[in-house]
Amino acid sequence: MKKPTDSGCRKDDLILIAGAGGFIGGALARYFTEKGFTRIRAVDRKPLPDWYQRVAGVESLSLDLSDEGNCKRSAEGVVEVYNLAADMGGMGFIERFRVMCLRSILINTHLIEAAYRAGAQRYFYSSSACAYNTKLQEDAHCRALKETDAYPAFAERGYGWEKLISEMFCQEYTAERGMKTAIARFHNVYGPWGTWDGGREKAPAAMCRKVIEAKDKGLDTIEIWGDGSQARSFMYIDDCVSGIDRIMHCQDLVATPINLGTSEMISVNELVDIVEQVGGVKLRRKYLLDAPKGVAGRNSDNTMIKRILEWEPSTSIRDGIKPTFRWIAQQYKDRKAGRQTVRDTI
Ligand code: NAD
Repeated sequence: MKKPTDSGCRKDDLILIAGAGGFIGGALARYFTEKGFTRIRAVDRKPLPDWYQRVAGVESLSLDLSDEGNCKRSAEGVVEVYNLAADMGGMGFIERFRVMCLRSILINTHLIEAAYRAGAQRYFYSSSACAYNTKLQEDAHCRALKETDAYPAFAERGYGWEKLISEMFCQEYTAERGMKTAIARFHNVYGPWGTWDGGREKAPAAMCRKVIEAKDKGLDTIEIWGDGSQARSFMYIDDCVSGIDRIMHCQDLVATPINLGTSEMISVNELVDIVEQVGGVKLRRKYLLDAPKGVAGRNSDNTMIKRILEWEPSTSIRDGIKPTFRWIAQQYKDRKAGRQTVRDTI
């Protein structure tokens, strides 16, 4: 059966990646470079030396995309735009800094307009599972979320609502102005070159760091936010960038939000078990019951992505955590030795 995808743009068409100094944007710049795309413009607010990855041959600009003029400048001549720029972090960040999260609306609002005015053919928006109705996630064993579960809306305060309204921007730019948009709702992405310390890191990276630190310092205890029963699914970065490409170039998914995640739900306690096995230690667990923990359970229902793309993210957490752990262990060592590491503070 012929899949409803097209080949995307030509290899010498200009692609803009917003948020390319961060985790997923950096991986996407590398992915398209390795696929042979020769004109990639990467933009991020961070100064260039602080970018997680700098990819050779990519035009890299340090610009704040909440500014309309910077969006216009970034979008000049573009054929495709990938918006991965947002003020973003794990639960500890998004529960504390709702205003910062909401203000990411400025990035998408200005960037989509600039992309439209520049005549871009396609625009990708990185939404999140946090856009889903939180009332459906009050139990660790709740059913997986399907795309229709975003409405009636009761999104995660701050971060989730910004995602929901930005999705709507994309849908209306397609409906009213004819620009093709693509929207993926990511479920917890992890892997090498992601934030692992400083307050914005998510659970897989945080657990790897804590286990590495415990081994290094001879500690016998690991601190866990909540009681460890909260459950999530975790997607490896390679699946994420491949999924972005597939979703962006699928004719049946224009302006249609879709889950991009694995359907392998595990509890935080199980995640710690896996990280301990990789690290070769067993630690006592200290549960911080007042720490941010987010919804009780969240998983990705992949019925739609399997039907439309005949594909779904498939790297298991057991496989994906190994290279992630090794990379964080090296980062930890580098930091101890005074070398520069990936770091993003609040
Ligand atoms: P990240 O924090 O590593 O990268 C985001 C980048 O955006 C950062 O480098 C940051 O400097 C940049 N940025 C923020 N404000 C900016 C501005 N005003 N102008 C220019 N750049 C700006 O996060 P990530 O994990 O790579 O996430 C990328 C996208 O995917 C975000 O939209 C995020 O909400 C979404 N997402 C990520 C996950 C995940 O698990 N990582 C889950 C759901 C959704």
